[in-house]
Amino acid sequence: MQGSAMDSAAENPSTTRFREYLRIQSVQPEPDYDGIVRFLFKMADEIGLEKKTLECAPGRPIVILTWRGTQPQLKSVVLNSHTDVVPVFEEFWTYPPFAAHKDKGGNIYARGTQDMKSVTIQYIEAIRQMKSEGRQFPRTIHLTMVPDEEIGGHKGMELFVDHPEFRALNAGITLDEGLANASDEFSVFYGEKCIWWMTVHCQGDPGHGSRFIENTAAAKLHSVITSFLDFREKEKKRLESTPGLRLGDVTTINLTKVSGGVSCNVIPTSMSATFDLRISPTVNLKEFESQIESWCRAAGDQVTFEYHQKFMNKKVTTPEDSNPWWKAFSDPCKKLGLKLNPEIFPAATDSRYIRAAGLDALGFSPMNNTPILLHDHDEYLNEDVFLRGIQIYTQIIGSLASVHPLPGEQ
Ligand code: ZN
Repeated sequence: MQGSAMDSAAENPSTTRFREYLRIQSVQPEPDYDGIVRFLFKMADEIGLEKKTLECAPGRPIVILTWRGTQPQLKSVVLNSHTDVVPVFEEFWTYPPFAAHKDKGGNIYARGTQDMKSVTIQYIEAIRQMKSEGRQFPRTIHLTMVPDEEIGGHKGMELFVDHPEFRALNAGITLDEGLANASDEFSVFYGEKCIWWMTVHCQGDPGHGSRFIENTAAAKLHSVITSFLDFREKEKKRLESTPGLRLGDVTTINLTKVSGGVSCNVIPTSMSATFDLRISPTVNLKEFESQIESWCRAAGDQVTFEYHQKFMNKKVTTPEDSNPWWKAFSDPCKKLGLKLNPEIFPAATDSRYIRAAGLDALGFSPMNNTPILLHDHDEYLNEDVFLRGIQIYTQIIGSLASVHPLPGEQ
């Protein structure tokens, strides 16, 4: 396709499969999940993996591929990825976003090259390679490919973690998506921020737009917005002025919607503001909640608020050698000379559901020397970075699947 027939003869087959997967239009809001399932089942048949699908919500298939270990009673290694991608603004793209065009420098352009079809294919290709080498591991390896992460995972991972089929995976450690890193280091995420989405409603006295009416909704809204945005400014300054601090270590607040009013000359009785808060897991959530309440109280009476999303679980996976999963993850990285950067994820991924279920999860996408382009125009990944990621995964997956029985395991 797209004039790539000539170079595809010489192309690394892993790259060819990656580009084929990128061309499946699994783009929200109507992802081609049938195409995804067909492709992944074909991969499973080629490699010789057990395969099945599960629908926790109709039309939202979860694909589970399994490489059984020699000691299947041990906790397993789960390699998770999501199959959907976010929409595109095609007019801003240099190449069509679902053509998987590869330029002379080896940069492959397509929606999902970073987020996160690369990782799915890297898992698959790493397993293909290890299986062809005749390797076997004590622990079972499951690949889970889940839908709808990009719209919150409510019909995907959120339901899946409560499903008997998920418990049957007997997960010990889950790998999930991370982010590209523009330097030669690799980011690895051991926790995520808590997302709170909330709307503050302000009620006040109405009147004619020509007068100084007291106790208006607008004055209260002004006070609320000022309190929230003052805190935003403080956190921004703290991030900029503290060496070593990253976006994941501070709390972000953004005003995302303002509504109210009926006419140009009428002082309205109600106005509201909506905020997107991403709270660092180091924050005491109860105290933070009290602070929000005090900001609203300070704005006056008849100020109420509602939460659209309020994530209270801030469990993290300990990135220290005392955690055998971390050790098994980081040791091969050290041997390969990779510089790992353990961080708190600045946004949210499906890992939050896994950690909330009490399980260890690490977010890792092996993309260094790569600008962060997820959800952006001209999302691309270089072929060499992609192929090296497969080799990195063979070492990490092999190490995780070989972790000796832990206390409590037979
Ligand atoms: Zn993603």
